[in-house]
Amino acid sequence: MRIFIDCEFIEDGKTIDLMSIGLVREDGVELYLESSECDHSRANAWVQEHVLPKLRADVHRFTRKEIAAAIVAFVEDSGPAPEFWADYAAYDWVALCQLFGTMIDLPKGWPMFCRDLQQLIATCTDPDIAALAKLEGENPHNALGDARDVKLIWEALTEAARADVIAAAAAAEQLQQQAKIAELSPKPAAKRKRTATKAN
Ligand SMILES: [Mg+2]
Repeated sequence: MRIFIDCEFIEDGKTIDLMSIGLVREDGVELYLESSECDHSRANAWVQEHVLPKLRADVHRFTRKEIAAAIVAFVEDSGPAPEFWADYAAYDWVALCQLFGTMIDLPKGWPMFCRDLQQLIATCTDPDIAALAKLEGENPHNALGDARDVKLIWEALTEAARADVIAAAAAAEQLQQQAKIAELSPKPAAKRKRTATKAN
């Protein structure tokens, strides 16, 4: 099952410290967790302004070990072969993976990579970026709000890609029909004559 993720974190060019994580499964089941181990005093001005106010005062914060265990259970419950998606996924993926240790410590059955919405956008024919931006919810920079947006945008892009495939199939069918019509059309007289001579 696809699992759409987003992380908020504090990074300094050397470390990516997980602050909060949101996960939304393809079937709509959600998980949101905040870390009790992230040092908020290290937040830069941008994070202080945009991210810290979006943390939820009403939720209990968990240790990294507890977050890791909750995520493993959440992903396990989604069935085999999880597929992770994020937007500009690189930092989110590292922040998630480091909950478990090094790259080889990832939970069994997990892929060793995360799919990126931006790669999907890059492969779409003429994606409507303005329309996609409108899908973004009213809670940017909250990990759960952003994870919900990743799901919404993935669904819109997939729908657009499906429409592209349908249009391409219709165009191919039209070409085939035209080829058939051309084949059925009477051949030029000179050509028919030559064929007849050959046959005799
Ligand atoms: Mg975010």
